[in-house]
Amino acid sequence: MPLTLQVDGPRWRDHLRRVADAHPGIVPVAKGNGYGFGVGSLARRAQWLGCDALAVGTYAEIREVEQRFDGDIVVLEPWRPFHPIPDNPRVIHTVGRRADLDALAASGLRPRVLLEGLTEMRRHGFDAAELQALGSSLPGVRVEGHALHFPLTGDHVPSTKAWLGSVPGRRWYVSHLGDAELRQLAAAHRAIELRPRIGTALWLGDRGALTPRATVVDAHPVSRGDRVGYRQRRIGRDGHLLVVSGGTAHGIALEAPSSATTARQRAVSVARGGLEAAGRSLSPFVVAGKRRWFAEPPHMQVSMLLLPDDVEPPAVGDEVDVQVRFTTTLFDAVQLS
Ligand SMILES: *Cc1c(COP(=O)(O)O)cnc(C)c1O
Repeated sequence: MPLTLQVDGPRWRDHLRRVADAHPGIVPVAKGNGYGFGVGSLARRAQWLGCDALAVGTYAEIREVEQRFDGDIVVLEPWRPFHPIPDNPRVIHTVGRRADLDALAASGLRPRVLLEGLTEMRRHGFDAAELQALGSSLPGVRVEGHALHFPLTGDHVPSTKAWLGSVPGRRWYVSHLGDAELRQLAAAHRAIELRPRIGTALWLGDRGALTPRATVVDAHPVSRGDRVGYRQRRIGRDGHLLVVSGGTAHGIALEAPSSATTARQRAVSVARGGLEAAGRSLSPFVVAGKRRWFAEPPHMQVSMLLLPDDVEPPAVGDEVDVQVRFTTTLFDAVQLS
């Protein structure tokens, strides 16, 4: 029985439409696990929204979207010589090193490229002086624009302005600029076309439209002292052992290691996902209004939970809420109402 993402279809589509309308030139981002929906399904949504470009994370993801979306496909990972150059005129490469630019130019295919600037992220890209020196008309490639990818925190208006001011380029693909920042930049640089690349705020921006649910697949009465599970640990009190769909293969109880920056966040993250060495860990599964303890670490496809004896166990086939991180969860099914 599945781990399901239930979607309030009308509400979700309204939200997508609103975000797209509010961001002219939006480039939806569909990558990785497709934010819980799957990359292919997001490609169809981008087509339905009428967008003229879609961004994927990797070269491998192109094949998941090219039959479902008919506009341009921006690849966010930088092109490197170990990537073949796809024979698809809709593909736009991201380039951040001179050697890669030269290799693309020498291919004879006149690939379409974005020239990426190395921002505070310090992940990929040319520095400002290099970009400035390159200009925007280069033999052997077609420069479609420039790209900037910012951290999730901070005010990026000053640094964007510095890039726009020093590097000649009319079209800029930007990531992680807030709505107010985009408006401010658009007003200050009327001749420049800003193309915001948006994933989370688009697909997951209205959480109320999205309900992850797990299915109860078994329930057993247990007594204090009984041994259960792979690890045969003893149970501390009477109650029920509940087996629910959703395990490590779905990404249950996974946390990004770097997401917790304060002691409190780390404590929350341990509670959500990691298993404390000493004892039990709180699971993300909610039964009768409360998150319940794991009986042991999640299995590949199911999890075993402990329910105290004052809680009536749900029936096999019932669904329970589960709190997930959408970018690390692989649902068995997405149900759109
Ligand atoms: C993933 C990614 C995005 C989208 O990020 P969200 O936070 O999901 O909106 C935008 N730009 C780049 C370069 C990315 O890698």
